[in-house]
Amino acid sequence: MLKKISIVIPVYNEEKNIPLVFDGIQKAFSVLPQYSFEVIFVNDGSRDNSLLEILKLSHENSNVRGIDFSRNFGKEAATSAGCHRACGDAVITMDADLQHPPTLIPKFLELWEQGVEVVYTVRKENKGAGIFKKLSSRLFYFVFNKVSEVKTESGTTDFRLMDKKVIEVFRRFPERERMFRGMIDWMGYKRQKIEFVAPERLYGNAGYSYVKLVRLAINSLTSFSLLPLRLAGYLGICITLISGLLLAMMLVADWFFAPGMFTPIAILGVSNMFLIGIVLISLGFITLYIARIHNEVINRPLYIVREEINGIEQ
Ligand code: UDP
Ligand code: MG
Repeated sequence: MLKKISIVIPVYNEEKNIPLVFDGIQKAFSVLPQYSFEVIFVNDGSRDNSLLEILKLSHENSNVRGIDFSRNFGKEAATSAGCHRACGDAVITMDADLQHPPTLIPKFLELWEQGVEVVYTVRKENKGAGIFKKLSSRLFYFVFNKVSEVKTESGTTDFRLMDKKVIEVFRRFPERERMFRGMIDWMGYKRQKIEFVAPERLYGNAGYSYVKLVRLAINSLTSFSLLPLRLAGYLGICITLISGLLLAMMLVADWFFAPGMFTPIAILGVSNMFLIGIVLISLGFITLYIARIHNEVINRPLYIVREEINGIEQ
């Protein structure tokens, strides 16, 4: 039997790109007769004729499947929906806008055949992205890597290949606020990267407005790190220490050395600071408990087993 590769493509207003990306994929597989492939287009509430294009392709080709969302749910949801329904031995996720060149597919499969379970790509250059987008993406990766438990390289994209077993585990992830890339990175497995130069988007506009990107960045940070919450606690510790020390010095000076040196208002102000610090520390404590609830609620698997050796059953 031929090995089957599923290709998942989230689509938001890509009517002109859909036939082109399918052409590219077909060309890539024309030199790979040892594989069969299916393409799953996930129409994420497009406002143009993307759905018609998907329907047209699926009539002409039995290996084109599609999912039509009732509205725009975002790329992360669309990619997840495709992966949930993919039935190949490996799944490749890619964008519809040809910024993820299908010519890399043979390379993906070559690495996969060598036993790599996650092949991911790093963009060396993103043609067409403005300086602001480049800088903000850098900044995001810098902060993300500093605060989160999984490390992600700057420039990694959603153009990836995942072995069937990785996708099977992914299907068990119930979390709602999700970042596809981060979740796959969190899972581990044998990984290898490929670098590529992203060409400019051919038709249409990037569907990710800055507002959506900021939302995604916040989602990513909050689902992989609790640092933003803990900051309140750390701030509280600093404020309490500094104002406590100051208050002690003021009181000692006032009582023993120079009575009346500080006005009561000054002493009241510093005492107030001290109390604010204590309130913030309490928030920090609450964070510790929220962290536990957060971990329970996102309900990730405790561990991921790649293989049971010599018949160890659960
Ligand atoms: N996309 C989507 N839903 C959205 C926005 C984008 O499914 O709400 C798809 C889009 O059609 C494309 C991919 O996600 O296939 C990447 O989108 P885009 O090119 O806008 O992002 P960028 O290249 O800037 O990362
Ligand atoms: Mg794009």
